[in-house]
Amino acid sequence: MKFARIAALVTALSLPFAAFAQDEQSADTAESTPPRLVVAIAVDQLSADIFAQHRQNFTGGFARLLRGAVFPSGYQAHAATETCPGHATILTGAHPGRTGVIANRWFDMGVAREDVRVYCSEDPGVEGSSSSDYTVSAGNLLVPTLGDLIQRVDAASQVVSVAGKDRSAVMLGGANADHMFWPGDAGFTTFDGRDVPEAVAWINQAAGRAMASSRVPLPVPAQCAAYNRAIPVGEGATVGTHAFSRGPAASGRAILASPEGDLLTLNLAADLVSELGLGQGGTTDLLAIGLASTDYIGHAYGTHGVEMCVQLMALDAMLGDFFARLDARGIDYVAMLTADHGGLDLPERQIGQAAPRAARLLPGFETLDARLAEETGLEAPILRADGPFGDFYVDRSVSEDRRAEVIDRAIALISAHPQVYRVYGRDEIMAQPVTDAPPEHWTVLDRVRANFHPDRSGDFIVVLQPRVTPIPQAMPGAYVATHGSVWDYDRRVPILFWWPGADHVEQPLGVMTVDILPTLASLIGLDISDIEIDGRCLDLMPDVAASNCP
Ligand SMILES: [Zn+2]
Repeated sequence: MKFARIAALVTALSLPFAAFAQDEQSADTAESTPPRLVVAIAVDQLSADIFAQHRQNFTGGFARLLRGAVFPSGYQAHAATETCPGHATILTGAHPGRTGVIANRWFDMGVAREDVRVYCSEDPGVEGSSSSDYTVSAGNLLVPTLGDLIQRVDAASQVVSVAGKDRSAVMLGGANADHMFWPGDAGFTTFDGRDVPEAVAWINQAAGRAMASSRVPLPVPAQCAAYNRAIPVGEGATVGTHAFSRGPAASGRAILASPEGDLLTLNLAADLVSELGLGQGGTTDLLAIGLASTDYIGHAYGTHGVEMCVQLMALDAMLGDFFARLDARGIDYVAMLTADHGGLDLPERQIGQAAPRAARLLPGFETLDARLAEETGLEAPILRADGPFGDFYVDRSVSEDRRAEVIDRAIALISAHPQVYRVYGRDEIMAQPVTDAPPEHWTVLDRVRANFHPDRSGDFIVVLQPRVTPIPQAMPGAYVATHGSVWDYDRRVPILFWWPGADHVEQPLGVMTVDILPTLASLIGLDISDIEIDGRCLDLMPDVAASNCP
């Protein structure tokens, strides 16, 4: 049943998963210690909550990972539960306050741009670029990634990063990845001037064929039937029953917001393993994979409809096929899977499903600058922010002698909004040490502090009340739900490790995504004792007398 479903998807995309079975098993890789390949997978917006909802139904790649070391309560412990900061913690062992990747976008009053806005994985120094029309770069990431640390030991180690978003590929791969691919205007792309393996052109042709053809609805598996219920989201639109049918001439976004997006990404990753010989040389290589479709689907349809169920069942099958392809090549690998952040379902569905306090953002933020202008006599823009929460900055047009007054008045106005939980000022945040408490016991200030970088973070940080969706009106087909808050539904993600012969162990207490780097380092015998990180090695050996950790 599972294979039939994925085979139908594969056939429709003209992608020869069947070729996977033809990979010859290498004869000389039976014994190799440490593992020759680290496969690090980040599933965008895979919350611990939806993973728990569906885990009993997994039979493919997720099921394999669930037979290894399982941490159902992993934490992206920091406050800004967005894609860029989340991906940056996974292979650096560092909170955003140390990586410098404090948000998807922040504001830099020194940058030569009118809107003073910077995108996390761009080079803002490129003349004529903007935070929306940018040159991809890892320059904003201030710490090394696992790939950098592997290559520090042996420059022959290959580091490859493939993802459904540029910021995911960059934050997993780091500054020195040998190959990095993300979706551009015409399929997967990379940095100018880089060698492009043949697999990329081949996958992009397949993507082009997929976009040109129409798609019948994907079958709804029996375990997804209970989620198949239409939820009105305004103006005659509903979510909850969409099974990814579409007409021809689809946009790249439509492909990415369906299981097809992850299928293309996983196919490219698997083909690069073959073409580049990853895991088949004398050193340990790294393959980082960012799977974006779960996030696009969560934003477009929410997390508790048939769309997410179909996606997770398809992803389970696709991951199973991906691992089978590594097995067929005889590669000695260790796999890790986690997420960059969790997510929250749309309030329209939650209100009817026992969460009556769920709500969309009420008016108020859109008039903030006008009210500040009236109070102070200053001209807008006075404040800079990327939304109604997170980092707020005083614009550079405000003179130094008016800044303190502006901040005080802004905090007073914002604090009066009925959906604001608290506003934290810079001095209060910086006075707080980064905690070493277990992540489920962090205060909100602890979460804000771990996210705070003195050179990049805002003049104050706004935290909304729990269960507030900061999208005032649903935009069906684009954004009806989101993440990004300090609350646990956005912080909690699964963390899974598996390798051939791994014992099953499950630890329900909280661990952190910053623990992944030191844990993977221990599994491949990599000494990272000379770098400063925020995580600790996780002991994955169920025997209390044994440990993988140094
Ligand atoms: Zn994300």
